[in-house]
Amino acid sequence: MKILFIFCFFQIPTEEIKAKLLEKEFKKTYSERIDTTFDILHYFIEIYLLPQNHFLSGKNKIRFKSLTSSLETLRLNLKNMNVDSILRNGVPQNYIYTDSTLRIILSPPLNLNDSTEVEVFYKGFPNGGLYFKDSIIYADNEPFRAKRWIPLYDLPSDKALLDMSIKIPIGYKIIANGLKIDSILQGNEIIYKFKEKYPIANYLIVFASSPYFVNVKDSFVYGNYNMPIYNLVFPQDTNLAKDKFQRISWMLEYFSNTFLIYPFIEEKYAHVHAPIGGAMENQTNTFINVHANWGPDWDWVVAHELSHQWFGDLVTCKTWKDIWLNEGFASYCEALWFSERDGENAYHNYMNGMMQYYINNEPYPPFPIYDPPYLFHFAVVYRKGASVLHMLRHVVGDSIFFEAMKTYLQTFSYSSAITEDFREVFESVSGQNLWWFFNEWVYLPGHPKYEFSWNYDSISQNLFKVNLNIYQVQDTQYNVPIYKMPIDIWIISEQDTFKEVVWDSLKQQNFEIYVSKKPIDLLFDPENWILKEVQEIALNEKISFHKNLFKIYFFKGDILIEYFDDKPLVAKMEIFDVSGRNLFSKFLNFSSSKSHYKLNKKFNPGIYFINLKPFLKKKMILFYKFQNF
Ligand SMILES: [Zn+2]
Repeated sequence: MKILFIFCFFQIPTEEIKAKLLEKEFKKTYSERIDTTFDILHYFIEIYLLPQNHFLSGKNKIRFKSLTSSLETLRLNLKNMNVDSILRNGVPQNYIYTDSTLRIILSPPLNLNDSTEVEVFYKGFPNGGLYFKDSIIYADNEPFRAKRWIPLYDLPSDKALLDMSIKIPIGYKIIANGLKIDSILQGNEIIYKFKEKYPIANYLIVFASSPYFVNVKDSFVYGNYNMPIYNLVFPQDTNLAKDKFQRISWMLEYFSNTFLIYPFIEEKYAHVHAPIGGAMENQTNTFINVHANWGPDWDWVVAHELSHQWFGDLVTCKTWKDIWLNEGFASYCEALWFSERDGENAYHNYMNGMMQYYINNEPYPPFPIYDPPYLFHFAVVYRKGASVLHMLRHVVGDSIFFEAMKTYLQTFSYSSAITEDFREVFESVSGQNLWWFFNEWVYLPGHPKYEFSWNYDSISQNLFKVNLNIYQVQDTQYNVPIYKMPIDIWIISEQDTFKEVVWDSLKQQNFEIYVSKKPIDLLFDPENWILKEVQEIALNEKISFHKNLFKIYFFKGDILIEYFDDKPLVAKMEIFDVSGRNLFSKFLNFSSSKSHYKLNKKFNPGIYFINLKPFLKKKMILFYKFQNF
């Protein structure tokens, strides 16, 4: 959900555009207390709207089951409304309504596994949740605003069936979750009845109504199904809707094939224009502000919201701490969609953009994906969340990844899940313990900053030993870990590319890789499967015939050079800035192994080019904090 906007010039919108659209960070100030004493089974909501007055009166009949031996109180949520009465089997019940909590005293208490119904009659002027704006009446709930217009249980952990009827003046077009099953004329008003036959989380319960809506019809044919697709917009936006939503049935087919059949196939899918701050994946209805500037290609947001029907609506995050199960997954589905539409390169380009966005916008101090202090933090929850799936895919392999994604959806269909549920599915499908992965990427903050150096020894004409040193130099304050990750290393020779995977897990680690052709280059995670920063730091084979002769370090403004040979040696050191300005030039005498040389000049962190003639020619080095010295 949550998307606000600026313009985009590119085929695939830049991360900045999405950030503007999405960066509606919700500062978490609530505490989540899942009530395990009851289970809501069914909401029967009746709303009577006076559009001119922005007023509603309503009733919610709630069928629920006791999960405890004697349920004495049903704790619901309702905010800024007036409660007229509460009945159980026609008998008034006592209740305590304070702030946003409505406690219904059940008399007599409800026995374990018994179910009953209460009817809450209420009215008022909704302050949020339900909006009257730009000739449209619409709901927008996530995460906690449903209670501002409906008395209900306001956490995503407990889904229920839904019947909803809306009474509204004649002339209003209307759409809600599920299907319209009836309409009854009453004087100058009509009661529209909707049924959502699939369980729904409270924050996805919506309707939208306007006298000006027109429907741009579409359909999704899949197997024996022919499901209607609605696009409800203002008349002047019909061409826009036809254009921007033109690939929706292709997307439905793609996600149905990739995951499970569209979860609400017996109902519908709809785009509904609403003047919200972006787009919102309400069950069977995506509300989207078609007047927001989504860039020239809307597919990223169209795919994002559609994929939420699986990740968010079919399987809902059980607590808001697990919000990445909604948003990280829908963000990842953007990249999957571009792989379907434009090919594998587009997938990688899109993922590179998402990862770079995270790197550029990582909060300081960093915080984890799990239980973020800002619920809809775009960099952490959306972009790093998507990157975690991208990495997990590479760790377990494509076939296991997609099988596990399917199993996750099947296991928790029409229900809700926590991060540990997701991890357990991946562990059981892959047969691997993945705690290490989830711990470092989901439960701990940050990302790795790698530095590496390499050289090789010629063992024989057909055997070369590559020595690879990998350093993790990220600041490990704030619980940022040292990462364990399989890293793809490609060793390039003139004729071949040797592909190896090294399992790096230490602050400093050395690897030996044997290849049969003389190496000319070494690529570190060349396909960018890891969310990271990486820098090649030291000298390589190109400038030393046998081993690394030098290592160059940058520490608190000083450049330090370490020499690794016993033979005395003279070299001319030159340092240039990026504009080619010569900042330093001096002959240095290196005499004994393991000796350190410090230049008598301070440097700011940045990018420099270094010559160490005749051994090193114009090597670009990024100097920043290097702690290994
Ligand atoms: Zn979303």
